[in-house]
Amino acid sequence: MQKPVALVTGGSRGIGAEIVRALAAADMRVAFTFANDEAAARALALECGATNVSCERSDVGDPHAHAPLVAATLERYDRLDVLVNNAGIFGENPFDGDDYNAWRAGWKRTFEINLFGAVDLAFHAMHAMRAQAPGPRGVRGRVVNVVSRAAHRGERTFADYGASKAALVNFTKSIARGCARDGIVAFAVAPGFIATDMAAESLSTSGDHIRNEIPSGRVGEPSEVASIVAFLASGGADYATGTTIDVNGASYVR
Ligand code: NAP
Repeated sequence: MQKPVALVTGGSRGIGAEIVRALAAADMRVAFTFANDEAAARALALECGATNVSCERSDVGDPHAHAPLVAATLERYDRLDVLVNNAGIFGENPFDGDDYNAWRAGWKRTFEINLFGAVDLAFHAMHAMRAQAPGPRGVRGRVVNVVSRAAHRGERTFADYGASKAALVNFTKSIARGCARDGIVAFAVAPGFIATDMAAESLSTSGDHIRNEIPSGRVGEPSEVASIVAFLASGGADYATGTTIDVNGASYVR
């Protein structure tokens, strides 16, 4: 039997890189994207064994990039079983800033990358999934969206980021209900603070405060998110479609 194929956005660093490692270790073939850091992406593909793991520059914020990306994945690997929408951006965008243009630009860019990038790529990926023969229990494809604790909390200084992730949680539910008959399942994974480049500035300026609100007193590691994504990608949780798994050290329990 052919090894399943996963497409992961933003695999060059941080959580995405650990997701690529975890999926490759689970014997999946992996295509992953990066935006800028080509050297890191190529090194990771080599580390994971370049025959079954490949990388491609692709801006998730570019609406014209998605169809060619899915087509390239199908050309290389013949099929697409799992989409992991991981790439994302984060920045402070306070309510009381003076610069209206900066406020609007923050909301627009955040939604373009975090929401529309995922939604648009899912459109094309699910098109490919629908065309495949179903596997066990009729499943043709899985979508895993990396969201955030911020989706649920009502963030005080980055409302745009929280809102973009909340929308992605809702999109996950819609795929689960709207595409079940097509054999597509969907999940969201919602990390709290995880030690990556994205969190580095917050951790350096407010590390004590951040750690104090986490009961264990430590931030998470990228591998602690990746292992959950790999489990969801494996099919072990298909009947839990539509759900969000929190990975935040109980810093926000819903
Ligand atoms: P990170 O360390 O900043 O890495 C971001 C990754 O996304 C990189 O691979 C980057 O590629 C890629 N990327 C950024 N913009 C892109 C674009 N326009 N097109 C394609 N790829 C792009 O972030 P991370 O912490 O691993 O975060 C991964 C996901 O987890 C994000 O969705 C984030 O919102 C979510 N998350 C993170 C945390 C946390 O505390 N770290 C918490 C909650 C949720 P390059 O290397 O090429 O720049």
